[in-house]
Amino acid sequence: MKNIHVLAIPYPAQGHVIPLMEAARCFTNNGLKVTFVNTEFIHKRMMSTGSEIDCPSDLMRMVSISDGMEPCDDKNDLGKLTKAMFQRMPTILEELINDINRNDEEKITCIIADFCMGWVMKVARKMGIRLAAFCPCSAAVLAVTMSLQKLMDDEVINSRGVPKDQMVQLSTSMPVMDPANFVWTCMGDPVTDQIFFDHMFLEGKEAAEAADKIICNSTMELEPGAFNLFPKMLPVGPLLATNRSTRQVGHFWNEDSTCLAWLDQQLVGSVIYVAFGSITIFDQAQFEELALALEDTKKPFLWVVRPGTSGSMDYVYPSGYVDRIGTRGKMISWAPQQEVLNHPSVACFMSHCGWNSTMEGVSNGVPFLCWPYFADQFFNKTYICDIWKTGLGLNKDDTGIVTRGEIKSKVERVLDNDFIKENASNLQEKVMDCVRPGNLSNKNLNSFIDWVKEGNDL
Ligand code: UDP
Repeated sequence: MKNIHVLAIPYPAQGHVIPLMEAARCFTNNGLKVTFVNTEFIHKRMMSTGSEIDCPSDLMRMVSISDGMEPCDDKNDLGKLTKAMFQRMPTILEELINDINRNDEEKITCIIADFCMGWVMKVARKMGIRLAAFCPCSAAVLAVTMSLQKLMDDEVINSRGVPKDQMVQLSTSMPVMDPANFVWTCMGDPVTDQIFFDHMFLEGKEAAEAADKIICNSTMELEPGAFNLFPKMLPVGPLLATNRSTRQVGHFWNEDSTCLAWLDQQLVGSVIYVAFGSITIFDQAQFEELALALEDTKKPFLWVVRPGTSGSMDYVYPSGYVDRIGTRGKMISWAPQQEVLNHPSVACFMSHCGWNSTMEGVSNGVPFLCWPYFADQFFNKTYICDIWKTGLGLNKDDTGIVTRGEIKSKVERVLDNDFIKENASNLQEKVMDCVRPGNLSNKNLNSFIDWVKEGNDL
């Protein structure tokens, strides 16, 4: 019997690849065949960590295509990368699909694309292939994207996406949002901001509208306002929790699993887990301040210190630091984060609030210390601190530094705060309930898979 063949394509970044791989794994578990398309750069990184060995199923095939950049271009320049992809990848993807369809008995009948890769929509339309959009970030971000025209009409932003100084609420059941936290205003520099607005968001809006289906790695419990505003967006998350019995796949770095044995030796609910995802960069001064703050807390900590990417320097610990910390702290270059957050020794999560980290922390009932860096992370912090009330924010001082004092005092406050701990645990229960058989995320995922299989509308 032939399998239905789906092509899945993420935006080339860690926080986009992992959740789409998880979705793809759900598809193959249900008998769909998946060709997972990474850019060559990302494919190489994943394969260098042995991700191929972890390749979830015989039904999944990993392939790679060019991102359209020149070999000398800096892949970490997200603006340049995004521009190149939107200009050049449509032709490259079309060739790949033609090639697959010529040589494979099972032709591609459905494309599932990250909504941040809006250009894919044009390829799907041109080739007459059904398109589903995947939302790897909060549904709120996609709701903002789908509301862009209204935001312009209401003059909350101008036609170039620049916000006026006014708060906005997309619907009465959605949180009040500060347009200064919209993703395309938080990319770090105005040129990248503009590229993101023009490509990822304006074209992402068109793609989301044109898509036959949209599935989101979130839950109704977490974001009722956004899901009720756009019923076309279907919550299917948390996808990682759905797959808890297996290992997470799609990592760009090798996980250091020795931290799990170290966690086993710590007291229940005692460890501060510190990790800022795959992109956040601190300057040396902030790095030292954080190191000294963790020392000051006198508590055990597990700290992910990613080696410098893009040729930037590796961080230098304060003099004598590693000896002074001894076995009380453990620094590693990449964690098996899902397993860490699920470990009973972990007391709180100091996080940059990337959406995946947010979902993973919530799914494990862990209180947060929020330290957003860019993109949607400022808004995710609002969810955690103001809406769900499962964490506290770390604030910068007048010089732009999060000081030792601030870090130490917030760590103590979050660890002593029964209200936050209880909220985190209640939210965990509700969120995990969504993926149980027959509940909303589970039902949505199954109906989506049926739709892919049968070509019928839900
Ligand atoms: N992650 C991990 N080990 C680490 C740090 C992060 O496995 O040491 C994973 C984490 O579990 C999450 C992803 O990397 O699934 C990061 O995605 P997120 O959206 O949180 O942040 P981004 O990297 O996109 O900023």
